Amino acid sequence: MNKKYACIVFDDGPREPMLEMINKFIKNEFRCGFAIIGKKISDQTEAVLKYAVENGFELVSHGQNHIGLPELSKAEIELELLSPINEIERRLGYKITSARAPYLWADESVFTVCGEHSLPLLGQGITVAHDWEDAVTAKEISDSFIKNIYDGAIITLHVKYSTCEALDEIFAFLKAENFELLTPTDLFKVKNVNPIPLDRQITRV
Ligand SMILES: [Zn+2]
Repeated sequence: MNKKYACIVFDDGPREPMLEMINKFIKNEFRCGFAIIGKKISDQTEAVLKYAVENGFELVSHGQNHIGLPELSKAEIELELLSPINEIERRLGYKITSARAPYLWADESVFTVCGEHSLPLLGQGITVAHDWEDAVTAKEISDSFIKNIYDGAIITLHVKYSTCEALDEIFAFLKAENFELLTPTDLFKVKNVNPIPLDRQITRV
């Protein structure tokens, strides 16, 4: 069976249960990305971010304040996307190389800023249950994920307890199907894709 690859980027961290999610990935020898909200980076959350980076996970800019980017001026979009990148570099010496728009909402001005800073904008490549809603269960998340996953998909999920719980079923399925989960950069590499130029959100490679 041919090996297949996909990439999950979990939004809205750093927050609980990010550490638990990282450890589930490590235990299964998978990796992923975490789209980080700049204003949540603090002395308290630095440790989990450092742990992620040291263990081969990828951090992604999810904006400083998690606001809709198309409502902002170009200079404000730049500030939103670059502030978390600068703060992570200052704290960890780690360079973030991709972004995800809050609410997956982007337009030409966002694509322009991302292009100027060589930041691939990561989108949502599969239909999956709205894991950010409290009413959605782990089973609904894993069922929809398993039904819709395909080779080369980039997936949006969230740092959340129900999503963390869903990982057990998702991982069991992916292993049986010879799937490997990679960071965004490693997915681009293994698929031999250059994610630049940027005129859209990248949902599959
Ligand atoms: Zn978000």
